[in-house]
Amino acid sequence: MRSIDTARHVLGYAYSPRLLAHDPPPTTVDIAGRPFPLGTANVSHAVLTAQAHELVTRSALCGVLVAVPLTPAPEDALLAVHTPAYLERLCAASAGGSWDGEYAPVTPATWDAARLTAGGVLAAVDGVLDGRLERALVHARPPGHHAEPDRAIASTYLNNLAIGAEHARARGAARVAIVDWDVHVGNGAERIFWDRADVLAISLHQRDWYPAHAGDLRATGGPRGEGCTVNVPLPPATTDAGYLLAFDELVAPIVRAFAPDLVLVAAGQDPSAFDPTGRMLVSAAGFRALAHRVALLAGEVAGGRLVVSTEGGYSPVYNPFCLLGVLEGLAGTDGGVPDPWAGDATVRAAQEPADDRVRDAVAAVRRVHQRWFS
Ligand SMILES: [Zn+2]
Repeated sequence: MRSIDTARHVLGYAYSPRLLAHDPPPTTVDIAGRPFPLGTANVSHAVLTAQAHELVTRSALCGVLVAVPLTPAPEDALLAVHTPAYLERLCAASAGGSWDGEYAPVTPATWDAARLTAGGVLAAVDGVLDGRLERALVHARPPGHHAEPDRAIASTYLNNLAIGAEHARARGAARVAIVDWDVHVGNGAERIFWDRADVLAISLHQRDWYPAHAGDLRATGGPRGEGCTVNVPLPPATTDAGYLLAFDELVAPIVRAFAPDLVLVAAGQDPSAFDPTGRMLVSAAGFRALAHRVALLAGEVAGGRLVVSTEGGYSPVYNPFCLLGVLEGLAGTDGGVPDPWAGDATVRAAQEPADDRVRDAVAAVRRVHQRWFS
């Protein structure tokens, strides 16, 4: 990987093996009054992050990427999004104190890893705002898009991209757009920026999934932020073409109308065709196409300023190839690692055209939002 000082065409990549220290134990379920650990379903396992990074380093992209150094996010950046009491509780829980996060177990390494990941987003945002990076991807661990100001949810503790958005605003960016294609609802950004018109929060997600009762298309923002929360609930088994349809018909025109100075992407790979936590059908090629689309869009509306941060992604066999697809789309070049599952029936199904259910879902969101963007 190249040094940031010597690079010219620069796609930043923020990652540190120190993030792997955050490695919560497997989830347990209660069976006959005793905890039963679901070891093979440990969606928080550090190996998922480690092997995706390993594939990146073995790909041709390694010669293209520029390492973005990670330093822990300073307290004032965290306080722009999270409450002081919550941050104290999270820090104390890492040190052994009590904890009550929803599906968000804390280990002794959680506080440091979370601050380091948020710091990676800040460094990436600074890099693109300063023009040292054209765009950047943060390989986040832990991810952040469910985290709310005062609570941790579903493996997320600090809302990395919200922290990045506030940082960009403080540096003079007038408007920031967040595009979230994780299979689960981007409830964190929705709550944090609900009543604001300076941050656009778009969430593409599987309908009626997680968190429960979140992500309804009629949730469009508070009185001062009407139209700046965009929920796009998509039906199960939405394919590559379905996601691209939603991008072309909703994300692109809405972001164009908003005219942000910076685009942030919450890039979950859990809409993938093999993901155990979702029921969508996106292939590695689909992720590549989505990332390429968003890079073109950022070039069109935001001077190319784009920071992508990873979110969920839990298929041990497919997640690394999906992450590589995202990086290929951002780099506009091939990583030289063919999708080993490309001939599989599941991946072929992911390349089917968008069906009427998806078209109807996209049209329903368009009807709600067209007053603001057309
Ligand atoms: Zn997710």
